[in-house]
Amino acid sequence: MADYDLVVLGGGPGGYAAALYAASAGMSVALVEKEKVGGTCLHRGCIPAKALLHAAEVFRTVAHAGEHGVKLPAGVTPEPDWPAANKRKAGIVNQLHMGLGGLLKRRKVTVVDGFGALTADGAVAVQGGDTLRGKATIITTGSVPRAIPGMEVDGTTVITSDQSTNSDADRLPERIAVIGGGVIGAEFASVYTDLGVSTTLLEALPHGVLPIGPDRDCADVLARSLRKRGLSVHAEARVGTLEHTSAGVVVPFETPKGSEKIEVDQVLVSIGRRPVSEGIGAEEAGVRLDERGFIEVDPNTMATSRPGVYAIGDCVATPGLAHVAYAEAMVAVEHALGENPVPVDYDKVPWVVYTHPEVAWSGLTEAAAREAGYDVEVHKHAMVGNGRAMILGETDGLVKVVAQRGGPILGFHMVGPWASELMHEGYLAVNWEALPDDVGRLIHAHPSLSEAIGETMITFSGRSLHG
Ligand code: NAD
Repeated sequence: MADYDLVVLGGGPGGYAAALYAASAGMSVALVEKEKVGGTCLHRGCIPAKALLHAAEVFRTVAHAGEHGVKLPAGVTPEPDWPAANKRKAGIVNQLHMGLGGLLKRRKVTVVDGFGALTADGAVAVQGGDTLRGKATIITTGSVPRAIPGMEVDGTTVITSDQSTNSDADRLPERIAVIGGGVIGAEFASVYTDLGVSTTLLEALPHGVLPIGPDRDCADVLARSLRKRGLSVHAEARVGTLEHTSAGVVVPFETPKGSEKIEVDQVLVSIGRRPVSEGIGAEEAGVRLDERGFIEVDPNTMATSRPGVYAIGDCVATPGLAHVAYAEAMVAVEHALGENPVPVDYDKVPWVVYTHPEVAWSGLTEAAAREAGYDVEVHKHAMVGNGRAMILGETDGLVKVVAQRGGPILGFHMVGPWASELMHEGYLAVNWEALPDDVGRLIHAHPSLSEAIGETMITFSGRSLHG
Protein backbone atom coordinates (compact mmCIF):
# COMPACT_ATOMS: atom_id res chain seq x y z
CA MET A 1 0.00 0.00 0.00
CA ALA A 2 1.43 3.36 -1.05
CA ASP A 3 0.05 6.59 0.38
CA TYR A 4 -0.41 9.87 -1.51
CA ASP A 5 -2.22 13.14 -0.98
CA LEU A 6 -4.00 12.50 -4.28
CA VAL A 7 -4.58 9.44 -6.45
CA VAL A 8 -5.89 10.10 -9.95
CA LEU A 9 -7.55 7.30 -11.89
CA GLY A 10 -7.18 8.00 -15.62
CA GLY A 11 -4.52 10.01 -17.47
CA GLY A 12 -6.50 12.00 -20.06
CA PRO A 13 -6.79 15.80 -19.99
CA GLY A 14 -8.82 15.72 -16.75
CA GLY A 15 -6.41 13.31 -15.09
CA TYR A 16 -3.10 14.87 -16.09
CA ALA A 17 -4.43 18.39 -15.39
CA ALA A 18 -5.53 17.27 -11.90
CA ALA A 19 -2.14 15.64 -11.29
CA LEU A 20 -0.13 18.64 -12.52
CA TYR A 21 -2.26 21.22 -10.71
CA ALA A 22 -2.20 19.24 -7.45
CA ALA A 23 1.56 18.75 -7.70
CA SER A 24 2.02 22.49 -8.31
CA ALA A 25 0.13 23.05 -5.05
CA GLY A 26 2.57 20.79 -3.20
CA MET A 27 0.51 17.58 -3.07
CA SER A 28 2.10 14.13 -3.53
CA VAL A 29 0.31 12.57 -6.50
CA ALA A 30 -0.03 9.17 -8.18
CA LEU A 31 -1.64 8.94 -11.62
CA VAL A 32 -2.91 5.55 -12.81
CA GLU A 33 -3.26 5.07 -16.58
CA LYS A 34 -4.03 1.83 -18.47
CA GLU A 35 -2.75 3.01 -21.87
CA LYS A 36 -0.86 6.22 -22.49
CA VAL A 37 -1.00 9.50 -20.60
CA GLY A 38 -2.80 12.04 -22.77
CA GLY A 39 -5.96 9.96 -23.18
CA THR A 40 -8.47 10.23 -25.99
CA CYS A 41 -7.78 13.92 -26.61
CA LEU A 42 -4.10 13.46 -27.35
CA HIS A 43 -4.09 10.02 -28.97
CA ARG A 44 -7.49 9.56 -30.66
CA GLY A 45 -9.32 12.86 -30.51
CA CYS A 46 -8.70 16.60 -30.40
CA ILE A 47 -5.04 16.74 -31.38
CA PRO A 48 -4.96 14.17 -34.22
CA ALA A 49 -8.32 15.37 -35.59
CA LYS A 50 -7.15 18.98 -35.69
CA ALA A 51 -3.88 17.93 -37.35
CA LEU A 52 -5.89 16.22 -40.11
CA LEU A 53 -8.16 19.27 -40.42
CA HIS A 54 -5.00 21.33 -40.91
CA ALA A 55 -3.81 18.96 -43.66
CA ALA A 56 -7.17 19.51 -45.38
CA GLU A 57 -6.73 23.27 -45.05
CA VAL A 58 -3.27 23.21 -46.62
CA PHE A 59 -4.61 21.08 -49.47
CA ARG A 60 -7.48 23.51 -50.02
CA THR A 61 -5.08 26.47 -49.97
CA VAL A 62 -2.69 24.88 -52.46
CA ALA A 63 -5.56 23.82 -54.72
CA HIS A 64 -6.73 27.47 -54.80
CA ALA A 65 -3.23 28.94 -55.03
CA GLY A 66 -3.94 30.25 -58.54
CA GLU A 67 -6.64 32.57 -57.18
CA HIS A 68 -4.02 34.16 -54.92
CA GLY A 69 -1.53 34.70 -57.71
CA VAL A 70 0.59 31.60 -57.16
CA LYS A 71 0.95 29.39 -60.21
CA LEU A 72 1.54 25.65 -59.98
CA PRO A 73 3.70 24.27 -62.80
CA ALA A 74 1.62 23.36 -65.87
CA GLY A 75 -0.06 19.99 -65.57
CA VAL A 76 0.56 19.76 -61.82
CA THR A 77 -2.50 19.11 -59.67
CA PRO A 78 -2.03 18.84 -55.92
CA GLU A 79 -3.00 15.51 -54.41
CA PRO A 80 -3.63 14.58 -50.80
CA ASP A 81 -0.90 12.36 -49.34
CA TRP A 82 -2.83 10.57 -46.60
CA PRO A 83 0.11 8.59 -45.15
CA ALA A 84 2.20 11.78 -44.98
CA ALA A 85 -0.64 13.68 -43.29
CA ASN A 86 -0.99 10.86 -40.77
CA LYS A 87 2.77 10.71 -40.25
CA ARG A 88 2.96 14.44 -39.49
CA LYS A 89 0.01 14.09 -37.14
CA ALA A 90 1.68 11.13 -35.36
CA GLY A 91 4.85 13.20 -34.95
CA ILE A 92 2.91 15.99 -33.24
CA VAL A 93 1.10 13.50 -30.98
CA ASN A 94 4.40 11.82 -30.04
CA GLN A 95 6.06 15.13 -29.29
CA LEU A 96 3.17 16.20 -27.04
CA HIS A 97 3.11 12.77 -25.39
CA MET A 98 6.82 13.00 -24.57
CA GLY A 99 6.42 16.57 -23.36
CA LEU A 100 3.59 15.53 -21.06
CA GLY A 101 5.63 12.62 -19.67
CA GLY A 102 8.51 15.01 -18.98
CA LEU A 103 6.22 17.53 -17.29
CA LEU A 104 4.71 14.88 -15.01
CA LYS A 105 8.20 13.69 -14.10
CA ARG A 106 9.43 17.20 -13.34
CA ARG A 107 6.43 17.74 -11.06
CA LYS A 108 7.29 14.42 -9.36
CA VAL A 109 3.95 12.81 -10.21
CA THR A 110 4.20 9.01 -9.87
CA VAL A 111 2.73 7.58 -13.06
CA VAL A 112 1.52 4.02 -12.51
CA ASP A 113 0.94 1.93 -15.66
CA GLY A 114 -2.02 -0.40 -15.36
CA PHE A 115 -5.77 -0.76 -14.97
CA GLY A 116 -6.95 0.69 -11.68
CA ALA A 117 -10.21 0.20 -9.81
CA LEU A 118 -11.62 1.59 -6.58
CA THR A 119 -11.77 -0.74 -3.62
CA ALA A 120 -14.55 -0.88 -1.04
CA ASP A 121 -12.40 1.17 1.38
CA GLY A 122 -11.80 3.91 -1.20
CA ALA A 123 -8.26 3.03 -2.31
CA VAL A 124 -7.22 2.37 -5.95
CA ALA A 125 -6.03 -1.17 -6.70
CA VAL A 126 -3.88 -1.52 -9.81
CA GLN A 127 -4.28 -4.89 -11.55
CA GLY A 128 -1.16 -6.96 -10.92
CA GLY A 129 0.37 -4.08 -8.98
CA ASP A 130 0.20 -1.95 -5.91
CA THR A 131 -2.80 -0.55 -4.05
CA LEU A 132 -2.67 3.22 -3.77
CA ARG A 133 -4.37 5.17 -1.05
CA GLY A 134 -5.07 8.84 -1.51
CA LYS A 135 -6.30 11.35 1.05
CA ALA A 136 -8.33 12.34 -2.01
CA THR A 137 -9.07 10.40 -5.19
CA ILE A 138 -10.15 11.80 -8.56
CA ILE A 139 -11.84 9.52 -11.10
CA THR A 140 -11.30 10.67 -14.64
CA THR A 141 -11.85 7.57 -16.74
CA GLY A 142 -13.22 9.35 -19.82
CA SER A 143 -15.53 8.10 -22.52
CA VAL A 144 -15.62 5.84 -25.60
CA PRO A 145 -17.53 6.12 -28.90
CA ARG A 146 -21.14 4.95 -28.78
CA ALA A 147 -22.01 2.12 -31.12
CA ILE A 148 -25.18 1.54 -33.11
CA PRO A 149 -26.80 -1.73 -31.95
CA GLY A 150 -26.32 -4.40 -34.62
CA MET A 151 -23.66 -2.41 -36.51
CA GLU A 152 -20.29 -3.97 -35.84
CA VAL A 153 -17.33 -1.59 -35.77
CA ASP A 154 -14.59 -3.66 -37.45
CA GLY A 155 -12.06 -0.84 -37.49
CA THR A 156 -11.54 -0.94 -41.26
CA THR A 157 -14.81 -0.63 -43.19
CA VAL A 158 -16.90 0.50 -40.22
CA ILE A 159 -14.92 2.83 -37.99
CA THR A 160 -15.30 5.36 -35.20
CA SER A 161 -13.14 8.38 -34.43
CA ASP A 162 -10.72 5.96 -32.71
CA GLN A 163 -9.69 4.81 -36.19
CA SER A 164 -10.39 7.94 -38.28
CA THR A 165 -7.80 9.81 -36.22
CA ASN A 166 -5.28 6.98 -36.61
CA SER A 167 -5.51 5.70 -40.15
CA ASP A 168 -2.72 3.44 -41.36
CA ALA A 169 -4.31 3.16 -44.83
CA ASP A 170 -2.04 4.00 -47.75
CA ARG A 171 -4.74 6.17 -49.28
CA LEU A 172 -8.03 7.82 -48.48
CA PRO A 173 -11.30 6.01 -49.14
CA GLU A 174 -12.99 7.19 -52.31
CA ARG A 175 -16.48 7.19 -50.80
CA ILE A 176 -17.46 7.51 -47.15
CA ALA A 177 -20.70 7.70 -45.18
CA VAL A 178 -20.59 9.60 -41.89
CA ILE A 179 -23.38 8.63 -39.49
CA GLY A 180 -24.12 11.46 -37.04
CA GLY A 181 -23.67 15.15 -37.87
CA GLY A 182 -22.49 16.32 -34.44
CA VAL A 183 -19.04 17.68 -33.68
CA ILE A 184 -17.03 14.63 -34.75
CA GLY A 185 -19.21 13.94 -37.80
CA ALA A 186 -19.02 17.56 -38.97
CA GLU A 187 -15.25 17.80 -38.43
CA PHE A 188 -14.52 14.60 -40.35
CA ALA A 189 -17.07 15.42 -43.06
CA SER A 190 -15.08 18.66 -43.49
CA VAL A 191 -11.74 16.79 -43.70
CA TYR A 192 -12.97 14.17 -46.16
CA THR A 193 -14.92 16.61 -48.34
CA ASP A 194 -11.91 18.90 -48.68
CA LEU A 195 -9.58 16.01 -49.46
CA GLY A 196 -11.83 15.00 -52.35
CA VAL A 197 -13.56 12.00 -50.77
CA SER A 198 -17.19 11.60 -51.91
CA THR A 199 -18.80 12.16 -48.50
CA THR A 200 -22.39 11.58 -47.37
CA LEU A 201 -23.55 12.77 -43.96
CA LEU A 202 -26.52 10.97 -42.40
CA GLU A 203 -28.03 12.67 -39.36
CA ALA A 204 -31.08 11.51 -37.39
CA LEU A 205 -32.29 15.00 -36.39
CA PRO A 206 -34.01 17.62 -38.61
CA HIS A 207 -30.83 19.67 -39.20
CA GLY A 208 -28.08 17.64 -40.86
CA VAL A 209 -25.03 19.59 -39.68
CA LEU A 210 -24.50 20.33 -35.96
CA PRO A 211 -28.21 19.93 -35.10
CA ILE A 212 -27.55 20.50 -31.39
CA GLY A 213 -25.37 23.15 -29.78
CA PRO A 214 -24.53 26.14 -31.94
CA ASP A 215 -26.82 28.97 -32.95
CA ARG A 216 -28.74 27.90 -36.06
CA ASP A 217 -27.52 30.89 -38.11
CA CYS A 218 -23.89 29.80 -37.61
CA ALA A 219 -24.52 26.07 -38.17
CA ASP A 220 -26.38 26.96 -41.38
CA VAL A 221 -23.37 28.89 -42.73
CA LEU A 222 -21.24 25.79 -42.13
CA ALA A 223 -23.85 23.50 -43.70
CA ARG A 224 -24.09 25.72 -46.81
CA SER A 225 -20.31 25.89 -47.16
CA LEU A 226 -19.89 22.11 -46.81
CA ARG A 227 -22.66 21.48 -49.35
CA LYS A 228 -21.11 23.98 -51.76
CA ARG A 229 -17.82 22.05 -51.50
CA GLY A 230 -19.57 18.79 -52.33
CA LEU A 231 -20.83 17.24 -49.09
CA SER A 232 -24.13 15.38 -49.46
CA VAL A 233 -26.26 15.91 -46.34
CA HIS A 234 -29.35 13.91 -45.38
CA ALA A 235 -31.25 15.03 -42.29
CA GLU A 236 -33.88 12.96 -40.46
CA ALA A 237 -32.07 9.89 -41.77
CA ARG A 238 -32.72 6.46 -40.31
CA VAL A 239 -29.87 4.15 -41.24
CA GLY A 240 -30.77 0.51 -41.84
CA THR A 241 -28.67 -2.67 -41.78
CA LEU A 242 -25.35 -2.36 -43.58
CA GLU A 243 -24.64 -4.83 -46.35
CA HIS A 244 -20.99 -5.72 -46.94
CA THR A 245 -20.28 -6.39 -50.64
CA SER A 246 -17.10 -7.12 -52.57
CA ALA A 247 -17.00 -3.47 -53.69
CA GLY A 248 -17.63 -1.90 -50.28
CA VAL A 249 -20.56 -1.35 -47.94
CA VAL A 250 -24.13 -0.62 -48.95
CA VAL A 251 -25.77 1.84 -46.53
CA PRO A 252 -29.57 1.90 -46.75
CA PHE A 253 -31.34 4.85 -45.16
CA GLU A 254 -34.75 6.42 -44.99
CA THR A 255 -35.57 10.10 -44.84
CA PRO A 256 -38.94 11.88 -45.17
CA LYS A 257 -38.09 12.06 -48.91
CA GLY A 258 -38.05 8.25 -49.19
CA SER A 259 -35.67 5.28 -49.08
CA GLU A 260 -32.19 5.38 -50.55
CA LYS A 261 -29.12 3.19 -50.72
CA ILE A 262 -25.56 4.34 -51.21
CA GLU A 263 -22.44 2.29 -51.66
CA VAL A 264 -19.31 3.48 -49.90
CA ASP A 265 -15.83 2.20 -49.02
CA GLN A 266 -16.04 3.16 -45.39
CA VAL A 267 -18.60 4.14 -42.76
CA LEU A 268 -17.68 6.46 -39.88
CA VAL A 269 -19.98 6.14 -36.87
CA SER A 270 -20.01 9.38 -34.86
CA ILE A 271 -23.24 9.27 -32.88
CA GLY A 272 -21.85 10.42 -29.54
CA ARG A 273 -19.74 9.02 -26.73
CA ARG A 274 -20.61 7.14 -23.53
CA PRO A 275 -18.87 7.39 -20.16
CA VAL A 276 -16.39 4.74 -19.02
CA SER A 277 -17.59 3.77 -15.58
CA GLU A 278 -17.90 -0.02 -15.67
CA GLY A 279 -15.32 -2.18 -13.96
CA ILE A 280 -13.79 0.69 -12.03
CA GLY A 281 -15.21 -0.38 -8.67
CA ALA A 282 -17.67 2.50 -8.44
CA GLU A 283 -20.42 0.40 -6.88
CA GLU A 284 -18.06 -1.33 -4.42
CA ALA A 285 -16.75 2.06 -3.29
CA GLY A 286 -20.22 3.63 -2.96
CA VAL A 287 -19.74 6.02 -5.88
CA ARG A 288 -23.17 6.57 -7.41
CA LEU A 289 -23.77 6.48 -11.18
CA ASP A 290 -26.81 7.85 -13.01
CA GLU A 291 -28.96 5.69 -15.30
CA ARG A 292 -26.72 6.50 -18.32
CA GLY A 293 -23.56 5.44 -16.48
CA PHE A 294 -22.25 8.95 -15.73
CA ILE A 295 -20.70 9.38 -12.28
CA GLU A 296 -22.92 11.64 -10.19
CA VAL A 297 -21.17 14.70 -8.80
CA ASP A 298 -21.91 17.92 -6.98
CA PRO A 299 -20.98 20.39 -9.74
CA ASN A 300 -19.84 22.95 -7.16
CA THR A 301 -17.01 20.72 -5.95
CA MET A 302 -16.94 17.69 -8.33
CA ALA A 303 -17.37 15.48 -5.21
CA THR A 304 -19.05 12.10 -5.75
CA SER A 305 -21.39 10.38 -3.31
CA ARG A 306 -18.34 8.93 -1.52
CA PRO A 307 -16.53 11.50 0.65
CA GLY A 308 -12.99 12.18 -0.59
CA VAL A 309 -13.67 10.78 -4.08
CA TYR A 310 -14.17 13.22 -6.96
CA ALA A 311 -15.02 12.68 -10.63
CA ILE A 312 -14.30 14.99 -13.57
CA GLY A 313 -14.17 14.98 -17.38
CA ASP A 314 -16.12 12.83 -19.82
CA CYS A 315 -17.18 10.32 -17.14
CA VAL A 316 -19.47 12.99 -15.63
CA ALA A 317 -22.48 14.50 -17.39
CA THR A 318 -20.94 17.88 -18.22
CA PRO A 319 -19.83 19.11 -21.69
CA GLY A 320 -17.39 16.51 -23.08
CA LEU A 321 -14.56 18.94 -23.75
CA ALA A 322 -10.90 18.68 -22.74
CA HIS A 323 -10.83 22.29 -21.55
CA VAL A 324 -13.89 21.70 -19.36
CA ALA A 325 -12.07 18.72 -17.83
CA TYR A 326 -9.06 20.99 -17.13
CA ALA A 327 -11.34 23.46 -15.34
CA GLU A 328 -13.06 20.68 -13.37
CA ALA A 329 -9.65 19.31 -12.35
CA MET A 330 -8.82 22.64 -10.72
CA VAL A 331 -12.18 22.71 -8.90
CA ALA A 332 -11.73 19.16 -7.54
CA VAL A 333 -8.12 19.74 -6.44
CA GLU A 334 -8.96 23.04 -4.75
CA HIS A 335 -11.82 21.40 -2.87
CA ALA A 336 -9.54 18.52 -1.86
CA LEU A 337 -7.12 21.15 -0.51
CA GLY A 338 -9.92 22.54 1.67
CA GLU A 339 -10.31 25.67 -0.43
CA ASN A 340 -13.49 27.22 -1.76
CA PRO A 341 -13.32 26.68 -5.54
CA VAL A 342 -15.27 28.77 -8.04
CA PRO A 343 -17.48 26.23 -9.84
CA VAL A 344 -17.43 25.91 -13.63
CA ASP A 345 -20.23 27.94 -15.26
CA TYR A 346 -21.32 25.22 -17.68
CA ASP A 347 -23.71 27.46 -19.58
CA LYS A 348 -20.87 29.74 -20.63
CA VAL A 349 -17.97 27.45 -21.55
CA PRO A 350 -16.20 27.97 -24.88
CA TRP A 351 -17.31 25.63 -27.67
CA VAL A 352 -15.29 25.25 -30.85
CA VAL A 353 -15.93 23.07 -33.88
CA TYR A 354 -12.80 23.00 -36.05
CA THR A 355 -14.55 22.48 -39.36
CA HIS A 356 -14.00 24.70 -42.38
CA PRO A 357 -15.35 27.27 -41.69
CA GLU A 358 -14.88 27.03 -37.93
CA VAL A 359 -17.87 27.43 -35.60
CA ALA A 360 -17.40 28.75 -32.07
CA TRP A 361 -19.60 30.07 -29.33
CA SER A 362 -20.14 30.78 -25.66
CA GLY A 363 -23.39 31.39 -23.80
CA LEU A 364 -26.97 31.31 -25.00
CA THR A 365 -28.09 30.89 -28.58
CA GLU A 366 -30.82 33.26 -29.75
CA ALA A 367 -33.40 30.46 -29.47
CA ALA A 368 -32.26 29.47 -25.96
CA ALA A 369 -32.27 33.10 -24.78
CA ARG A 370 -35.82 33.60 -26.05
CA GLU A 371 -36.91 30.31 -24.51
CA ALA A 372 -35.42 31.41 -21.18
CA GLY A 373 -37.73 34.44 -21.33
CA TYR A 374 -35.17 37.17 -22.03
CA ASP A 375 -36.17 40.25 -24.00
CA VAL A 376 -33.34 39.85 -26.47
CA GLU A 377 -31.64 42.09 -28.95
CA VAL A 378 -29.60 40.39 -31.66
CA HIS A 379 -27.09 41.80 -34.14
CA LYS A 380 -25.09 40.03 -36.82
CA HIS A 381 -22.23 41.02 -39.04
CA ALA A 382 -21.36 38.95 -42.09
CA MET A 383 -17.73 38.28 -42.98
CA VAL A 384 -18.45 38.96 -46.64
CA GLY A 385 -17.63 42.67 -46.27
CA ASN A 386 -14.58 42.16 -44.05
CA GLY A 387 -11.35 43.16 -45.79
CA ARG A 388 -9.16 40.60 -44.05
CA ALA A 389 -11.61 37.78 -44.85
CA MET A 390 -11.54 38.86 -48.51
CA ILE A 391 -7.73 38.86 -48.50
CA LEU A 392 -7.78 35.33 -47.07
CA GLY A 393 -10.41 34.34 -49.64
CA GLU A 394 -12.61 33.07 -46.80
CA THR A 395 -15.74 35.16 -46.60
CA ASP A 396 -18.15 32.41 -45.49
CA GLY A 397 -18.90 33.52 -41.96
CA LEU A 398 -20.61 35.78 -39.50
CA VAL A 399 -20.54 37.12 -35.98
CA LYS A 400 -23.79 37.05 -34.02
CA VAL A 401 -24.26 38.60 -30.61
CA VAL A 402 -27.27 37.90 -28.41
CA ALA A 403 -27.82 40.43 -25.61
CA GLN A 404 -30.50 41.25 -23.11
CA ARG A 405 -32.20 44.41 -24.41
CA GLY A 406 -30.36 47.26 -22.69
CA GLY A 407 -28.33 44.70 -20.74
CA PRO A 408 -25.38 42.35 -20.90
CA ILE A 409 -24.22 40.03 -23.66
CA LEU A 410 -25.84 36.61 -23.19
CA GLY A 411 -24.32 34.74 -26.10
CA PHE A 412 -21.51 35.14 -28.61
CA HIS A 413 -21.54 33.12 -31.82
CA MET A 414 -19.15 33.04 -34.69
CA VAL A 415 -18.52 31.08 -37.85
CA GLY A 416 -15.64 31.79 -40.18
CA PRO A 417 -11.86 31.84 -40.42
CA TRP A 418 -10.08 31.48 -37.07
CA ALA A 419 -13.35 31.58 -35.12
CA SER A 420 -11.63 29.06 -32.81
CA GLU A 421 -9.18 31.74 -31.70
CA LEU A 422 -11.30 34.87 -32.08
CA MET A 423 -14.16 33.50 -29.99
CA HIS A 424 -12.24 34.07 -26.76
CA GLU A 425 -13.04 37.78 -26.93
CA GLY A 426 -16.71 36.78 -26.99
CA TYR A 427 -16.12 34.23 -24.23
CA LEU A 428 -14.63 36.95 -22.07
CA ALA A 429 -17.51 39.33 -22.83
CA VAL A 430 -20.17 36.70 -21.99
CA ASN A 431 -18.46 35.64 -18.76
CA TRP A 432 -17.68 39.21 -17.75
CA GLU A 433 -21.34 40.03 -18.39
CA ALA A 434 -20.11 42.93 -20.50
CA LEU A 435 -22.52 45.29 -22.26
CA PRO A 436 -22.24 45.37 -26.07
CA ASP A 437 -21.25 49.02 -25.70
CA ASP A 438 -18.31 48.08 -23.40
CA VAL A 439 -16.86 45.95 -26.19
CA GLY A 440 -17.98 48.25 -29.03
CA ARG A 441 -15.94 51.11 -27.58
CA LEU A 442 -12.77 49.02 -27.63
CA ILE A 443 -10.69 49.43 -30.77
CA HIS A 444 -10.29 46.47 -33.11
CA ALA A 445 -7.29 46.65 -35.43
CA HIS A 446 -7.86 47.31 -39.11
CA PRO A 447 -7.75 45.26 -41.19
CA SER A 448 -8.56 42.24 -39.04
CA LEU A 449 -11.17 39.52 -38.76
CA SER A 450 -11.79 40.79 -35.21
CA GLU A 451 -13.23 43.98 -36.66
CA ALA A 452 -16.39 41.99 -37.39
CA ILE A 453 -16.76 41.53 -33.63
CA GLY A 454 -16.30 45.24 -32.93
CA GLU A 455 -18.73 46.17 -35.70
CA THR A 456 -21.41 43.82 -34.34
CA MET A 457 -21.07 45.31 -30.85
CA ILE A 458 -21.24 48.89 -32.17
CA THR A 459 -24.52 48.09 -33.97
CA PHE A 460 -26.26 47.71 -30.56
CA SER A 461 -25.90 51.50 -30.13
CA GLY A 462 -28.24 52.08 -33.07
CA ARG A 463 -25.34 53.49 -35.08
CA SER A 464 -22.69 51.74 -37.09
CA LEU A 465 -19.55 52.10 -39.16
CA HIS A 466 -19.67 49.60 -42.00
CA GLY A 467 -22.40 47.29 -40.63
P1 NAD B 1 -22.47 14.54 -30.70
O1 NAD B 1 -23.36 14.24 -29.57
O2 NAD B 1 -21.85 15.88 -30.85
O3 NAD B 1 -23.22 14.23 -32.09
C1 NAD B 1 -23.81 13.02 -32.37
C2 NAD B 1 -24.84 13.23 -33.46
O4 NAD B 1 -25.27 11.96 -33.93
C3 NAD B 1 -26.08 13.97 -32.99
O5 NAD B 1 -26.32 15.03 -33.88
C4 NAD B 1 -27.17 12.91 -33.04
O6 NAD B 1 -28.42 13.45 -33.37
C5 NAD B 1 -26.68 11.99 -34.13
N1 NAD B 1 -27.14 10.61 -34.05
C6 NAD B 1 -27.31 9.85 -32.94
N2 NAD B 1 -27.71 8.61 -33.28
C7 NAD B 1 -27.81 8.58 -34.63
C8 NAD B 1 -28.16 7.60 -35.58
N3 NAD B 1 -28.45 6.35 -35.18
N4 NAD B 1 -28.17 7.93 -36.89
C9 NAD B 1 -27.83 9.18 -37.30
N5 NAD B 1 -27.48 10.16 -36.44
C10 NAD B 1 -27.45 9.86 -35.12
O7 NAD B 1 -21.35 13.39 -30.64
P2 NAD B 1 -19.97 13.21 -31.43
O8 NAD B 1 -19.93 14.09 -32.62
O9 NAD B 1 -19.81 11.75 -31.59
O10 NAD B 1 -18.95 13.76 -30.37
C11 NAD B 1 -18.81 13.12 -29.12
C12 NAD B 1 -18.22 14.00 -28.06
O11 NAD B 1 -16.92 14.41 -28.38
C13 NAD B 1 -19.03 15.24 -27.80
O12 NAD B 1 -19.31 15.23 -26.41
C14 NAD B 1 -18.16 16.37 -28.12
O13 NAD B 1 -18.27 17.39 -27.18
C15 NAD B 1 -16.76 15.78 -28.11
N6 NAD B 1 -15.97 16.37 -29.20
C16 NAD B 1 -15.76 17.70 -29.21
C17 NAD B 1 -15.08 18.29 -30.25
C18 NAD B 1 -14.88 19.75 -30.28
O14 NAD B 1 -15.21 20.40 -29.30
N7 NAD B 1 -14.38 20.33 -31.36
C19 NAD B 1 -14.64 17.52 -31.32
C20 NAD B 1 -14.89 16.17 -31.29
C21 NAD B 1 -15.57 15.61 -30.22
